[in-house]
Amino acid sequence: EIAASLERLGRRLNAPFSITVHGGDRPLADLAKPIAAGVIHALRRRGIAAPDGSRVVSVDDGVLTLADGRTEPADFVVNASGLAPAPVIAGLGLPLAGDGSLHVDPWLRSTGDPAIFAAGDCIAFDGAPLPRVGVYAVRQAPVILHNMLASLEGTPLMRFEPQKHFLTIMNLGDDTGLALRAGLHWRGRLAWRLKDAIDRRFLASHRPDPTPATVPTDRPELSRSQS
Ligand SMILES: Cc1cc2nc3c(=O)[nH]c(=O)nc-3n(C[C@H](O)[C@H](O)[C@H](O)COP(=O)(O)OP(=O)(O)OC[C@H]3O[C@@H](n4cnc5c(N)ncnc54)[C@H](O)[C@@H]3O)c2cc1C
Repeated sequence: EIAASLERLGRRLNAPFSITVHGGDRPLADLAKPIAAGVIHALRRRGIAAPDGSRVVSVDDGVLTLADGRTEPADFVVNASGLAPAPVIAGLGLPLAGDGSLHVDPWLRSTGDPAIFAAGDCIAFDGAPLPRVGVYAVRQAPVILHNMLASLEGTPLMRFEPQKHFLTIMNLGDDTGLALRAGLHWRGRLAWRLKDAIDRRFLASHRPDPTPATVPTDRPELSRSQS
């Protein structure tokens, strides 16, 4: 997504960049093989190099070293190799999941201290880890607020029930997108327009209201959603 958008930016500035994506043995590993191959083919057709099996082992002073020992100079390096919890989590002295995230129960409480609540990318439940996507962070927000207030008031807590499927749309930087949901996929302009509309609507919902401020008295509604 970043490579595709940078390529678009270079064309728009009339200064095409030379872009290489190093994706290890299996770039876009979260996608089914034919879908990943289609995206990589589309990137290559736009002049983006995506060598097979090239894995970066270090970056020093603008020089990438690859696993096979080759080196490659770069003016600008973007590391998009995945998210890791912030180091502050490890220093809390609370139970962690294998990837260093805070281990929580379905009520978004630390399994080591029920007075500590957490949500978003920095947590892990028992079982399969949830993908680190905004849709979970956004939907956990009203649950964590409810539960923190409820724990102070001594009222029932609410379980966070993660949805099984969610819509992902990858911006391919050429006014098209790749939409994925529940094993189905769609690539084209419509996917990009949908992503743009969802993102704009979501951001607009967080812009300050120009009408005079009022103090909210109700708990937030759980119906608010992203995608
Ligand atoms: C390039 C990119 C594109 C993405 N696109 C999408 C998308 O299209 N759709 C989607 O659903 N999700 C997307 N995501 C994922 C989504 O952004 C995250 O899942 C979501 O932001 C997680 O929310 P969060 O509040 O848990 O963490 P964050 O939004 O990362 O917020 C954590 C905050 O904690 C702060 N922080 C860290 N350490 C400390 C500290 N020690 N003290 C104080 N503050 C600290 C950080 O600065 C940050 O502001 C994308 C992520 C990336 C990186």
